[in-house]
Amino acid sequence: MATANLGQIAQVQTPTAVRKTAQPRDNTMVGEYASGTTGAAASRSDRYGGHMNPPLSRTNAEAHLYMDLHPCSCGESRFPRQSAVVALDDGDLASRYTGTCAGCGRERAFVFRLPPVIDAAGTGFRYGGDEPSQLLDPGEWLLVADAYAGQVPASATSGEAAQRARTALTRAVAALDEVGKFIPAGGSAVPPDIFGSDRGRQLHQREPGRFRRDRLTAVRDAYAGMLSQLG
Ligand SMILES: [Zn+2]
Repeated sequence: MATANLGQIAQVQTPTAVRKTAQPRDNTMVGEYASGTTGAAASRSDRYGGHMNPPLSRTNAEAHLYMDLHPCSCGESRFPRQSAVVALDDGDLASRYTGTCAGCGRERAFVFRLPPVIDAAGTGFRYGGDEPSQLLDPGEWLLVADAYAGQVPASATSGEAAQRARTALTRAVAALDEVGKFIPAGGSAVPPDIFGSDRGRQLHQREPGRFRRDRLTAVRDAYAGMLSQLG
């Protein structure tokens, strides 16, 4: 397959297929990032950890991805994630994830507002419903798609390798779908002023064409075709 441009995502780890949310979770789906992003990430996570106005997490998978993308100030994004449902000051419910940083031992905490109605399990894997993410910007979603696509082995025809390839491609497709949700109805590309992260904005400046609807559709079709060949 084509070499994925990993951008600032230097490494991804194959996600665990099934996990109950109440269980601790210490492996990350998307691992290390280049330095330079940790300062902003730390202040953001502190803010959300303080229950000020936590962002909506549409699914548990999206919440975990956000935490993977916002490492501790030491650079480590992994921590054993204990989750609890807490009530916010405004009465809404939220998920609170806490644990000790696997790198430096600092206490990590993230709070995400829960969706008003829990979506019924649909077919296929999705990071959220039709509304755009409040946690990751379209550039970050495209980096995530690249990172997962880059995990797919060149020859994965059977057994565990095929299962890993299927999992990674499924997530790459779901991440591409998230990019597309930022394109306005009738629009042909993600608007340039919508990027909220430095890494997302930089990717858009470098490769604006990748955020066009037709390009996204073409890449998605290619991944879906690979998925169907995996059976
Ligand atoms: Zn740390």
